[in-house]
Amino acid sequence: MQQPQAPIQTFPEDWQTALAIVAHPDDLEYGAASAVAKWTAQGKGVVYLMVSRGEAGIDGMRPPEVGPLRSQEEINAARAVGVDVVEFLEHPDGIIEYGLPLRRDISRVIRRHKPDVILTLSHHLQFPSGHLNMADHRHVGLAVFDAARDAGNRWVFPELLGEGLEPWGGVRFVAVFGPAGSTHGIDVTGYWEQGLESLRQHKVYLENLGPSAANTFDFLTAHAVESGQVFGCQYAVFAELVLINEPWG
Ligand SMILES: [Zn+2]
Repeated sequence: MQQPQAPIQTFPEDWQTALAIVAHPDDLEYGAASAVAKWTAQGKGVVYLMVSRGEAGIDGMRPPEVGPLRSQEEINAARAVGVDVVEFLEHPDGIIEYGLPLRRDISRVIRRHKPDVILTLSHHLQFPSGHLNMADHRHVGLAVFDAARDAGNRWVFPELLGEGLEPWGGVRFVAVFGPAGSTHGIDVTGYWEQGLESLRQHKVYLENLGPSAANTFDFLTAHAVESGQVFGCQYAVFAELVLINEPWG
């Protein structure tokens, strides 16, 4: 896999709370989870928000059966890296739309949890491998940036005030895991295996992926080792940081 060209900076860790927002159960478990394991071990608080329940993710099983199953697998995956709170927005898997309803729903959760930072998955059209990054990921990623700002504006989504939710403008940055243009690295040595354990919790989902699931673990580990070589440690994961609430905005 392609590595970033510019020197990778050390990911800032002078924060206390994070809200991780992704489209599907399992999205955080391909690298980000090992960083989460490190941060919860430091005493930071991390909450997970799934925009959908991933109910359209298994070809051979019907969505009403898959939704609850994958929700539970995500709760187990979160627990494996020290995260006790997993919330779901109930947007429909596979056809998540970018738009005001999604921005509002995410803003609501940001105002409720008041995170210092937000973690999400790549919103770019392609993954570094060249593969298409599906619409749900792109739409959720884009909405996450916007909602991080919306949450701080009293006059955007005023109905949230009616729900007793005051603005929260304290999100410092959104960390995007997985893009080719990553800017920051996290040394996850000592936590890498815990991140993989988190992915293993998606038992039924992985079973239905077939034999390729086994290769996924090797592929992810090889990439973390390669990133570690770039960053100067055994295992590393990279993210792109997008600063929120710039003073001139
Ligand atoms: Zn996904």
